[in-house]
Amino acid sequence: MSSKRILVTGGAGFIGSHLCERLLADGHEVLCVDNCFSGRRATIAPLLSARNFEFMRHDVTFPLYVEVDEIYNLACPASPKHYQFDPVQTTKTSVHGAINMLGLAKRLRGKILQASTSEVYGDPAVHPQTESYWGNVNPIGRRACYDEGKRCAETLFFDYHRQHRVRIKVARIFNTYGPNMHPDDGRVVSNFIVQALRNEPVTIYGDGRQCRSFCYVDDMVDGLVRLMATPDEVTGPVNLGNPVETSMLELAEAVIGQCRSKSQIVLRPLPEDDPRRRQPDIACARRVLAWAPRTALDEGLARTIAYFRRTLDQTGVG
Ligand code: NAD
Ligand code: UDP
Repeated sequence: MSSKRILVTGGAGFIGSHLCERLLADGHEVLCVDNCFSGRRATIAPLLSARNFEFMRHDVTFPLYVEVDEIYNLACPASPKHYQFDPVQTTKTSVHGAINMLGLAKRLRGKILQASTSEVYGDPAVHPQTESYWGNVNPIGRRACYDEGKRCAETLFFDYHRQHRVRIKVARIFNTYGPNMHPDDGRVVSNFIVQALRNEPVTIYGDGRQCRSFCYVDDMVDGLVRLMATPDEVTGPVNLGNPVETSMLELAEAVIGQCRSKSQIVLRPLPEDDPRRRQPDIACARRVLAWAPRTALDEGLARTIAYFRRTLDQTGVG
């Protein structure tokens, strides 16, 4: 495999940090660009001494002039807690960020991959979700800054492809979890694990019967790398996620059990527009990328719990 210069925006975030690590291990030169809004230098600290790794603090809503062969555009807070903190900036990150990175890809004639999301399907009326489903999104709700921002980014990707022949890849990522999630990230897996390790109440929003499909981060990164490597005619969108559905109640019980925690489950109000179900149809990823997740939830949770045990011990918060 030939060595490439690869830009990862959002590279100091949860998925981005694993992607940077994988690309370095594959022998590439990695430029990680991040404004450290929801990501942290700590996630990439082990990479900073690598000869082929460079970190640049930069906000993708501003133009970026660098020379690379490929771009993975991951910059955007992914947790509702973070993307709802400054919703206008969230939309700008998705839309202006996409315009800036697509402009860069156009000038460089490089390939660009967009980290899109299952949120483009909103609260889906079709189950499981196939790429041909157009979604059910509330355009004026609290999740809209993220959902509609990502939908507009997809539109921009396909218009740059049709209008300017930019070589695009669009991945629709479903719920992903693993080490390097921020302990205060607010997403369900990190919340439950941190709460269980501290023997604090485990907070289920709603009645806990809503379902998600959780993909371990190594599997996700492998899917993204495979998608980038496809021939130019493969643009996506391609669903990437684990099709195994889990209710939040089942997840809470699994986490409490694996942590051997004394935590009790408590019910809290369901946030606005919280989707009831989400499950990827990954027939396209299986066919085009020869990809399917390999890590079962129990195994992925064990690795993630081990990571949080170490992190909380080190920070003395546990
Ligand atoms: P994350 O919040 O951990 O990482 C996002 C990174 O982007 C952070 O490091 C953040 O500081 C950076 N960022 C945010 N705004 C920026 C800006 N304006 N300029 C530069 N950097 C900026 O989230 P994640 O879970 O690693 O998600 C990565 C990508 O994958 C996101 O685009 C997200 O929408 C997408 N995604 C993730 C999931 C998931 O379950 N983790 C699901 C669907 C889609
Ligand atoms: N959730 C929960 N308790 C928490 C955090 C989240 O029950 O402490 C629920 C949330 O309401 C949603 C599901 O878990 O139904 C997944 O939430 P997350 O924010 O991880 O991802 P998303 O809603 O974006 O899929």
